[in-house]
Amino acid sequence: MNIIIFGPPGVGKGTQAKIIADKLKISHISTGDILRDAVAKQTELGMKAKAIMDSGGLVPDDIVAGIIQDVLKSDACKFGFILDGFPRTKPQAVILQQILDKLNIADLKIIELKIDREVVVHRLLNRRGCINCGSIVNLLTLEDKNTCPVCGAKDSFFKREDDNEKVIRNRIEVYAKNTLPVLDFYKGNVEIISVNADQDIPSVTRDIFSALGID
Ligand code: AMP
Repeated sequence: MNIIIFGPPGVGKGTQAKIIADKLKISHISTGDILRDAVAKQTELGMKAKAIMDSGGLVPDDIVAGIIQDVLKSDACKFGFILDGFPRTKPQAVILQQILDKLNIADLKIIELKIDREVVVHRLLNRRGCINCGSIVNLLTLEDKNTCPVCGAKDSFFKREDDNEKVIRNRIEVYAKNTLPVLDFYKGNVEIISVNADQDIPSVTRDIFSALGID
């Protein structure tokens, strides 16, 4: 199965994409994770992307499309994929279509996660990553706010540099202006499954699985 998981920053795309990828044994491709990794390793790509990412803007289409092309062509995607954070603009959607056509991939579904703008601002301000195991957690839902609920590490939480209010609001604006219109590109051609993401993680997963016909 080939899926695009779609929705504003902070809606839970990464969390749900991981769960779906594990369940379906397909590859989870997050352009944000690939770019953050390049920034951490200070590669040429990372150097180009850092300032743009810190401000909440979009990295140029040709750069991100190049990354996606390489990944989709690789063996990692031969059993299917879930794209998280791509396409984010109409030109990226056009490029993706060209890549899929070349690879003869016709079955594509979109999962759209929907949520109110102010709920995601609040969520993102409380989002943390665990430096020990890489899990993403939300302080709002943790009883012990200093211990990772996944690996048990103490004081291991870090905050993404772009999870501050000014940048969060910019990312949401960029989403509304550039990314939301991407759905129009797919309407009528691709099945779009809309799910209410203002629920706890298992409930969102349950709704996605039920819409995909998975138990
Ligand atoms: P994310 O982890 O998906 O929230 O992405 C973090 C940041 O990486 C975004 O705010 C953008 O600066 C950049 N980024 C990720 N994916 C894309 C994309 N498809 N096109 C342009 N920029 C992207």
